[in-house]
This record gives sequence, structure tokens and C-alpha cells, in this order.
Amino acid sequence: MRTHRSPTCHEETMNYHQYYPVDVVNGPGTRCTLFVSGCVHECRGCYNKSTWRLDSGVPFTQAMEDRIIADLNDTRIKRQGLSLSGGDPLHPGNVPDILRLITRVRAECQGKDIWLWTGYRIDELTAAQREVVELINVLIDGKFVQDLKDPALIWRGSSNQVVHHLR
Ligand code: SF4
Repeated sequence: MRTHRSPTCHEETMNYHQYYPVDVVNGPGTRCTLFVSGCVHECRGCYNKSTWRLDSGVPFTQAMEDRIIADLNDTRIKRQGLSLSGGDPLHPGNVPDILRLITRVRAECQGKDIWLWTGYRIDELTAAQREVVELINVLIDGKFVQDLKDPALIWRGSSNQVVHHLR
């Protein structure tokens, strides 16, 4: 269990912008979806510029982490899994909290899948980012490229991005 950290201590705690406990848009089936703060990619045409700053949004607290675990295990509304987007969940400043969250999902939420959207390409991930990828089911990678935008694409905005079904 992680130790309590001050909610004002932004440099130590991941921030997030939105949490949707019941979401049918971001990934297959009914899901819990978390949009985290922080992204370095600065894609032209980004629809979510307000999430770029790592210290935007609100702190991702222990209570939020516990709530996501509880929501995934809620039998009244069955969730297929967890979607992680942003911002960028693989921003180096987010990796420790994301790793802790998905390690708990793996241990405590049997049968739930984890989808993650990142602006990094899978072949340029650091060792720490790859630790996260080892625990997820599907990675959608790459920056959003406006010239390659195609509304017909599923789960991705531009055709350079790839939906990697990892396991
Ligand atoms: S990776 Fe996503 S959030 Fe980051 S700048 Fe690109 S489109 Fe925006």
C-alpha cells in the first residue's frame, strides 16, 4: 500500500483531469476511464491542450485509486476494464502512479483489461515506461498527426497511430 502523500505535493503526485466511472466511448465495452495530466508531445490539432501541464487538473489521491479499484469490481454495472488516457499516462512524471494503479488492477480486479493511449511510439519507450506496458492489454501509440487524421479510424485519431493488442 502506498504511503499517504500531501495533496499539495504536485511534484510527487500524478494529477488528473477527468474520471468517468461508466464510459462506453473510450475503448470496448463499458469501462472506467481516467484522463491524466501532463503531455510533452504538443501535437498540432490536439483536442486536449488543457491537459499538457503536469500540474494541471487535480491530485490523483489514494481515495481516487481506491475508487477505481472498487468501480472495476462493482457487480451492479459490469466493467470490461480500465482506459488510461490524457494527457499522456506514460509521461515520465506519471509512470510511478500509473504503475502502482495498474499493478493493483492486475492483483485485485480479475478479468479486467487495461487500454492505454500514449503519444510515445512503442519503440521509443524507456525501461520504466515498458514496465507499464508489460501489465496492459492494449497500447495505442504515437502522436496525433493532423494531416493523417481519419474519423473512420477506431480507437485512434490519425493513421500513424497503431492499436497494439499485446496480450
Ligand atoms: S499526445 Fe495526445 S494529449 Fe498529447 S499533445 Fe498529442 S494529441 Fe494532445
